[in-house]
Amino acid sequence: MAGSGDLPERLLRETCISEGAVAYGVASAAEVDNLPRVKIRWGMDRYSRKPTAIMPGARSIVVFGIASSDDAHEVAVHTRGEDYEYPGYLPLIHIRKRAASVLRENGYDCVFPSERNALMSFKRIAQLAGIGGFGKSSLVISPEYGPWLRISMLLTDAPLTPSKPFTRDLCRTCTSCISACPADALKPYVVDDRKCLIGRSPQTLRKNVQPGLLETYQPQLTKRSHVMCTACQIACPYTSDERRARSHVFSIGHLEGE
Ligand code: SF4
Ligand code: SF4
Repeated sequence: MAGSGDLPERLLRETCISEGAVAYGVASAAEVDNLPRVKIRWGMDRYSRKPTAIMPGARSIVVFGIASSDDAHEVAVHTRGEDYEYPGYLPLIHIRKRAASVLRENGYDCVFPSERNALMSFKRIAQLAGIGGFGKSSLVISPEYGPWLRISMLLTDAPLTPSKPFTRDLCRTCTSCISACPADALKPYVVDDRKCLIGRSPQTLRKNVQPGLLETYQPQLTKRSHVMCTACQIACPYTSDERRARSHVFSIGHLEGE
């Protein structure tokens, strides 16, 4: 049922920010419907879907991001098969729940899509919501947080005001992420999911991984957990010195240089 009172736009934004979001924006569901479909890989190999196919009646997509400020946020815990949990990204779930409460208390409906099960291109939607640009590393890049935003969203039938899309080209002639990738997985704006170390661990696929790469760039913490590769992000000029100093790859470089 569509809401009846004032749109809770300001409250929605303030709620997300007070719960830890450092980036917030809104995309129109109709505009996202019109985006070209993109192939979602990483074991799915299916094309992205329209938001209105996922939630009939969707009018807006609320997009929010948290900052990964330390490689401790980049831990992946293997659950089963090819599945992982990411404890560092859990605040996104909390923000999503709080934002959903605001919408529902004001009479609007919402659903939580996940990039995996809803087959939506979060990166393109984030760009449309003004969060950042699509970098050559195939990650969302923001001037303030570089490639370190972790993004989630929810679909709603609330007719929220869309944000201004992010249109700046932040990469220009830079190719640092491509040179830094130890697995040769990057071409401009495309990551080869068959080569990228993310999603690979001793418990899952080791195919196409050169000996030593996982040990160096995705060190194990416990039998079932590891720190994900961040080499392309560390190399990005939009990465702050502070964030770089909190990377395990940076620590490895220091040890090797000593
Ligand atoms: S995460 Fe690592 S392996 Fe994957 S593209 Fe970035 S640098 Fe390459
Ligand atoms: S390293 Fe350079 S090319 Fe890669 S995403 Fe960052 S700015 Fe763009």
